[in-house]
Amino acid sequence: MGYTAVHTGWGRLDASLDDLGCGRSWADVHRVKGLELACPECRGRVFARVSPHRARHFYHQVRPPDCALAHESPKHHLLKLELATAARAAGFKAELEVGNEARTWRADVLVLDEQDRPFMALEAQLSPMTPQDARMRTERYAVDGVAVCWVSVEKRPWERGVPSLRVTPPRCRGEAWMVRHGMARYTWAAPRTVRTKAAWRHISCSLEDAVRWILQGRVHSHTGPDGAVWWTAPSYVQLALGRARLEADAEAVV
Ligand SMILES: [Zn+2]
Repeated sequence: MGYTAVHTGWGRLDASLDDLGCGRSWADVHRVKGLELACPECRGRVFARVSPHRARHFYHQVRPPDCALAHESPKHHLLKLELATAARAAGFKAELEVGNEARTWRADVLVLDEQDRPFMALEAQLSPMTPQDARMRTERYAVDGVAVCWVSVEKRPWERGVPSLRVTPPRCRGEAWMVRHGMARYTWAAPRTVRTKAAWRHISCSLEDAVRWILQGRVHSHTGPDGAVWWTAPSYVQLALGRARLEADAEAVV
């Protein structure tokens, strides 16, 4: 299942956009006999369909074993749409399932800046990946000037080494996808504790908010002293640096 297809005359179609990104409508492609649509990944024939979750998409009648788009799970499919929707809600142009010319990467969601240049990839990474692969794939994007945010739904061994978010899906319709890990702030202890200690704490927020903060540059990926990476606001980094300096000074005095 993918959100994109290619038509020889119309170009690239994106089922997550009302005009399919090419000035057409869903009625032009859904249940239209004799319409030739191709998968952008394997060039196999695909057809328009609506999923049980009411997401419009394109499917392969016969799934080729080596096409990545043909074998995505429904959860991956929904998370991808959520990421694209969040990027668009934040005011950015976002393209689904698009790769670079050299074919060194294909982003689930590629976000473009005001000059239509890609600057951020949002990756729904639900299948296993080694920490080495995560770093290598992040570097491949970096060669083209594109940053990445990897998004998982479970704790993964790669999440501390690359900019990432761990999220939980909504339990029922109308609920939001929530970030559980990957977005942190530097604070003194939670209220009502007797002893206070300044530390980095991961916060919970909606995925929509997290994507907006990231794309608008309100939070940056920050690497902690132990090599762990998380998203945070520059002011928290300043606060943590100031605190570290203060502690060092205190030790020197003692
Ligand atoms: Zn395909």
